[in-house]
Parts: sequence; structure tokens; C-alpha cells
Amino acid sequence: MLRTNTCGELRIENVGKTVVLSGWVQKVRDKGGMLWIDLRDRYGITQLILEEGKSDAAILSIARGLSREDVVSAEGAVIERSSKNANIPTGDIEILVAKLTLLNKSKTPPFTIEDDTDGGDELRMKYRYLDIRRTPVRTALELRHRLSIETRKYLDSFNFLEVETPYLIKSTPEGARDFVVPSRMNPGEFYALPQSPQTFKQLLMVAGIDRYYQIVKCFRDEDLRADRQPEFTQIDCEMSFVTQEDVLQTFEGLITHLFNKVLNVQLPTFPRMTYADAMTYYGCDKPDIRFDMKFVEMNSIVKEKGFPVFDSAELVVGINASGCSEYTRKQLDALTDFVKKPQIGATGLVYLKCNLDGTYKSSVDKFYSPEELAKWAAVFGAKAGDLILVLAGGADKTRKALSELRLHLADELGLRDPKVFKPLWVLDFPLLEWNEDEKRFFAMHHPFTSPMEADFALMSSDPGKVRANAYDMVINGVELGGGSVRIHNRELQKQMFSILGFTDEEAQNQFGFLMNAFEYGAPPHAGLAFGFDRMCAIFSGKDSIRDFIAFPKNNSGRDVMIDSPSVIDAKQLLDLSLTINK
Ligand code: ASP
Repeated sequence: MLRTNTCGELRIENVGKTVVLSGWVQKVRDKGGMLWIDLRDRYGITQLILEEGKSDAAILSIARGLSREDVVSAEGAVIERSSKNANIPTGDIEILVAKLTLLNKSKTPPFTIEDDTDGGDELRMKYRYLDIRRTPVRTALELRHRLSIETRKYLDSFNFLEVETPYLIKSTPEGARDFVVPSRMNPGEFYALPQSPQTFKQLLMVAGIDRYYQIVKCFRDEDLRADRQPEFTQIDCEMSFVTQEDVLQTFEGLITHLFNKVLNVQLPTFPRMTYADAMTYYGCDKPDIRFDMKFVEMNSIVKEKGFPVFDSAELVVGINASGCSEYTRKQLDALTDFVKKPQIGATGLVYLKCNLDGTYKSSVDKFYSPEELAKWAAVFGAKAGDLILVLAGGADKTRKALSELRLHLADELGLRDPKVFKPLWVLDFPLLEWNEDEKRFFAMHHPFTSPMEADFALMSSDPGKVRANAYDMVINGVELGGGSVRIHNRELQKQMFSILGFTDEEAQNQFGFLMNAFEYGAPPHAGLAFGFDRMCAIFSGKDSIRDFIAFPKNNSGRDVMIDSPSVIDAKQLLDLSLTINK
């Protein structure tokens, strides 16, 4: 081996030992009489020292020729440092170099390999192998590894079997857009890359596997954002002979286990909230409950007082920004500008200051008497010093806008501490969503989700009202995972496809394999999947999933390091029976 130890492990107890270390040159400091090299590997940094007069001249000359990121191997004795560095674990010692070998020279890297680098996103992605040398990226990958190991341990202890499912499957029109792969041997035909192993894991239940999981790549050809990549990883799970309650317990257990083992954080029992309550009180289906600021609906107290905006609104709803009554004109204007941004889409913002002296000041004083404003304060349970912010308009749009305002304010007020974790389950989602453009229902989760038993009858009379036997796990306003109890009965599955606008023939063509399997003794089953990249980001308190993926793609879906996607040559196109129209 080209080393006896790593650059992260030597301590004061090792003084006197002769060691060989190998790694990358982080820094060289040449003070004439003395020369220090910071040597770095995955495990840390150790200081090497050479001294004019004491060290061999040839070795000093090699050292003087070193620059950042050269790969070297050094042999020498561990000695105690005269000036110790308390900031690093190896800071009490250094290596008095007796032998130094340059293993490989490095060009000057395009950005500094330091925690705070000067490299921009694209540059770092182009030289990702250099970026990964940086501690923050490496620790992100280490965290990912820990989470996957602990996930496997936990699921294995509950008898889950990891089974691999195929990557070359069949394109289906439901869900997101598929990535497709042309088949050379079947001209004109295509495989699709899986958006998830959903149907396969259900078939594994029919196959009697009973408990399945897979840490698996999924592919969706969607527009990208900071928390989306065209290929991403799921912890995908399925169980037989279980109820919703069993699934919730099992996977609440998994997440509790991961927080405990990986972050040493003990989570309390997860609260549960219906979808309807999440929408009513937080205006979104993945509420951040690290802070309160619940919505209060005001229709019953604000209407018919002569304020046309409220009179004509379907919903008047507000939040209490506690302790913000001293907000200045400028701050309130900034909040108004925020809600009026096109992506938020509110037309204006009404405020009520509950002043510290007990008086009220609102932007609609003209229409509401102090007594009426006192009623507003009362429904919010507001006290002196609070600031009530109110939006009005169409119900869905207004809730969405207020939800954004709530998060924005919480950010401003520092209420979203990334080190605080507030998980919850959101339950009782609607089964279907009406799509006005296509004039048909879409499955809110996916077409294999079972309706709630209590709502079976509504399937034929009023499908829009049916609740799904589905659940999402949310942490800090992020959907960490979701799943459902599945349909395991051919007739119900057929009915579902028919509600989704499939003819019997289309359903049979696309999902016949699953419906046929349901005729051979399909057990009741249920499952869920977690977004694994997102899980890593949440555990680290980060928004972007990119740093948790070794080789991510940029916002245009490109891998800028290998420069992909790329054109293929005419021969390949011909083999695949493809022609490109330019
Ligand atoms: N396959 C689903 C998804 O990708 C998860 C599940 O229902 O298990 O969202």
C-alpha cells in the first residue's frame, strides 16, 4: 500500500511512529527555512513539515516544486507540533518528512478545492470529480451512503426483500412524460425508462414476495428545478396483507430510525392531518408546521360592510404575523409587492396592525370601524403587537397565495430553522382531480390507488368526491414520500380506468398485464416511495438535491461533464431505424 495511515487519523498518541501518507496537496507554505504542506485525502488533512538543513536537499526541491492538487506520498515520523491547530483533528501533530514522492502532477484546478469555493455551479459540475474532493460535497455523499445503509438495515430487519425491477419497460400515457429508448431489434418500437417501479412492485405482491423494497433510479422527463432531476432515486416499498395503518407505522418507524441513527435526533410520533385540513389551515398539501400562523377564514365577519373587494371575493382569509405590528410602510409595501408577483398572483394585501397601545390600524379603516377590527383580531386570537395579513379572491388561488406569503414571512422571521424537524402525515387525499383543459379526471396519486372503502359507492355516482386511501409524509414543508393502499381487484381497477377516460381496450392494451395478474390471487397490498435525494437534502437542511447526487444534471437536463445528451452518428440512427428531421 502507498500509505500506512490516512490523512485524518494521526493524533498526539502516534508521536514517534513512522508513517506513510498519500493524498493531494491542499497548500504549500514556504517560509525559506521551513516548508509546510497540507496533505489532503477523503479522511482529512495532515500537515507535513520539511526543514532547511535537516531535510534532504533533493526532497526539499521536490517539495518546492509542488502545487495545488499534485498527488504525493510522504514518509516520515509523527512529531508534536510547536504551534497546534485546534480547528482540525490532526492539529496536534505533523509529519517530519524523510521521503517524498510525486505520484502525479496536477494542472491548476479551475476553482479552489475548499469548503467555500470560488467556482460557479456550471464550472463545478463540469469538473465534478474536483468538486467531489471538497468537504461539503464529500460529506453530502457520505450522508447519502449512511442513509442508504440504515434504510437497508431497518427494512431487512422487517423482512423486506430488495428486488431489482427492469429499467427498460413500457411507455404509458399517465403521469409525467417518459424517457424512451429505441429498440434496435424491434424497429419502430421503444422501451420507456420507469417513472417508478409501481406496477412491478405490485406484481411482486401478486408473486407472494410479501415485503419488497428497492433503492432505485426513476426517470421523468419534466421541466427541472432545484429539487428535480431527470433521473432521481426512490426508496420504493410495498407490503401485502396490510392496512393503511400498518404502512404508516412501518414507515414512520423507518424515518424515526434514520433520524435517530444518522442525526441522533429523536422524533416524536408524527401528527396526522387530513388533506382538507391542510388546505383549510395552510393552503397547501405539504404544510410546514415548524411554525403556526394558521389560516383564519373571515368571510362571516368581513362581508357586506361596503368593501367591494371582500364583498365580491369567494374567500377572505388571513394569517397572524405575531409580533409584527411595528412593520413599517416600506415593509408592508414589500409584502404587498411579494403577493402581487405574477407567480403568487394576488391582487392586493390588506393588513390590520394590532398596535401595542391597544388601538387598531388597518389599510381598510374606511370600511371597518374599530369595533369591527376588534372582531378580526378576536377571530385570530391576536394580541397587541400582532399584524394580521389578509388576502381575498377565488378560494383555491387565494389559499395558494396566502400559503406562499406564510412561508415567505416565516423565512423573514427566521421561523424555518433547518435543524428543527417537524414531520407529519397528510391523509385522505381526493382520489381524482378534474382537468379543465382535457375535460377529464386524472388520478391525483396514480391510477392504482384504492378509494377509501367508505367512498366505494361514490365511484359511480360522484367520482370527484371520492377520497383516496393515500398518504404523504411531509417534513418541514417538503413532501418526503407518498403512497397508497392499492386496488387489487380487477373490476375496481377497470372501473378506475374507465373513470380516467380509458376505453376497455386501451386499459387492456396498456395495463392488461396488471389486471390479468389480479385474476390470479392478488393479495391486498399497499406501499409508498420516498424521494431519496430529497431525503438527503432534508437531513442536511438544504433545498437543492444536486449536491447529494454524485453526477447531477444542470437545469437544462444536461450533464456538462460528459456533454450529454449528444448527437449519435448516422450508422447508429440507421441501426435504430430512426431518422432525425432538422
Ligand atoms: N410509485 C409511487 C410514486 O412514484 C409511490 C407509491 O405509490 O408507492 O410516487
